[in-house]
Amino acid sequence: MVRLQNYVLDAWQEGTAPFRPLVDPATEEPVAETSTRGLDFAAVLEHARTVGGPTLRAMTFAERGALLKAMSKALYAKREELIRVAQRNGGNTRGDAKFDVDGATGTLSYYAYLGKSLGDAKHLVEEDPVKLAQGARFCGTHVAVPRRGAAVHVNAFNFPAWGTFEKAACALLAGMPVVTKPATSTSWLTYEMTKVLVEAEVLPAGTFQLIAGSAGDLLDHLGGQDVLAFTGSADTGALLRGGDGPVKASTRVNVEADSLNAMVVGPDVQHDDDLWRTAVRSVAKEMTQKTGQKCTAIRRVFVPSALVASFAEDLGAELDRLVVGNPADSTVTMGPLTTASQLRDYREGVRKLAAQATLAYGSPVEVSPVGAPEGKGYYAAPIVLTVDDARAATDVHDHEVFGPVVTLLAYDGSADDAVDLVALGGGSLVTTVLSDDRAFLKAAGLGIAAWNGRVLLLDTKVADQATPHGMVLPQLVHGGPGRAGGGEELGAERGLGFYLQRTALQGNRGLLEKLFR
Ligand code: NAP
Repeated sequence: MVRLQNYVLDAWQEGTAPFRPLVDPATEEPVAETSTRGLDFAAVLEHARTVGGPTLRAMTFAERGALLKAMSKALYAKREELIRVAQRNGGNTRGDAKFDVDGATGTLSYYAYLGKSLGDAKHLVEEDPVKLAQGARFCGTHVAVPRRGAAVHVNAFNFPAWGTFEKAACALLAGMPVVTKPATSTSWLTYEMTKVLVEAEVLPAGTFQLIAGSAGDLLDHLGGQDVLAFTGSADTGALLRGGDGPVKASTRVNVEADSLNAMVVGPDVQHDDDLWRTAVRSVAKEMTQKTGQKCTAIRRVFVPSALVASFAEDLGAELDRLVVGNPADSTVTMGPLTTASQLRDYREGVRKLAAQATLAYGSPVEVSPVGAPEGKGYYAAPIVLTVDDARAATDVHDHEVFGPVVTLLAYDGSADDAVDLVALGGGSLVTTVLSDDRAFLKAAGLGIAAWNGRVLLLDTKVADQATPHGMVLPQLVHGGPGRAGGGEELGAERGLGFYLQRTALQGNRGLLEKLFR
């Protein structure tokens, strides 16, 4: 059993008892324990502000990019060990673990490249100052400089690697030091990754600190130059937004919360044509990858009324190939849920949705996991529900079951109906629309854009080359309106904006153009 340590003030510090156990969700065996008791959280933030911040601000974008490159390389060198930890503590199959770990190194590497392309600058200035008076000289522009506080990151349990380092990549490149807090239940992987970075001696002092467990009173010390980026449930997001820092000191907050993501099968898609098969395979993958514990997973599929039954049948056939069980067995293709409380929520959630829907595939209480000790592990079966009256099934648009569960809902095949139904989710991270009808793609795509952070438009020509619905890419923004938290992360240079103060500069054009570049 590993006892996790916190990496604070450039040293490893063990919390004091009691220690919280972390388990292997496939067997319920304890694998690690952690505590953050006794940490001086105010000092952690101050260390970031006074030591890490000045160091990063003295570096150019290219130098910060080189730091990210070194982090990515050091982590990649330990990829196999990290994948094993993800499997033990997250209940991940090897494929799921790779998705998380490679997502971390890939995003660091992408932002390293961006840093290189931003070159020797230490801040960003907009091109072409605008004329503000009669004469040509007096102009205005905008400069974006690193905020002088700490970037505090609070992450969800499902992506202890990617979640940590996609946020860190943007903050460090922008010039802000990071204090990162993974969810306690899966903090072992983040701890091991931090250990790799410390041992590789790539982290300048004060630039990266790890709170391996509970946040204690960390968030009570947030000030007006700090930022808080949160990923997790909508309820926790709302609680953190209401803290003293955000409310009284205007600490900048970004929230990535839960979301009822969707797929719309266009009216021209025929049973068993290319787009149909793409749709079926994609839903099966999205609902079972990471056992459905993915913020971007498809929860609602809108299918023209006449085709709902065939879609359920074909999806069921695809899910029949799944092997649920202990990821230690290499034949297993879907592992357990990550915690006992996730399993409870899944069972209650399926019961809730099934009260307004028809159970078309699977049972929330019957599952025979391969390679699991008798009666142990947090295993869940894949579930498909169907609904005829999409508007009446209010819980399906409102309750996120964070597991391998999807609901197929009938719609009338028009773009207007699809848009209205997607909107019932109250704001999502991503929706996929499949069609070869350009007018439908345009109307549905533009209509649902207001309700989504990302829209994946698939016609037959790109369906076989497209990145998966659930894959978050550093080039594009991640985050969604309303229910999804209202946040925005990544999106190449856009991802730095959260960590930079944009300030209007007025003055002599020559001065603005020469001195501030
Ligand atoms: P959660 O229970 O809200 O926890 C998220 C994080 O908040 C954890 O690190 C947790 O720490 C921390 N936390 C909880 N209460 C806190 C408090 N009072 N003060 C400070 N920190 C606090 O969510 P989860 O169960 O880990 O994650 C699942 C949810 O995240 C799902 O609903 C999913 O949709 C969403 N999610 C969204 C995205 C996205 O990008 N939009 C990505 C992944 C997941 P402890 O673990 O120590 O309690």
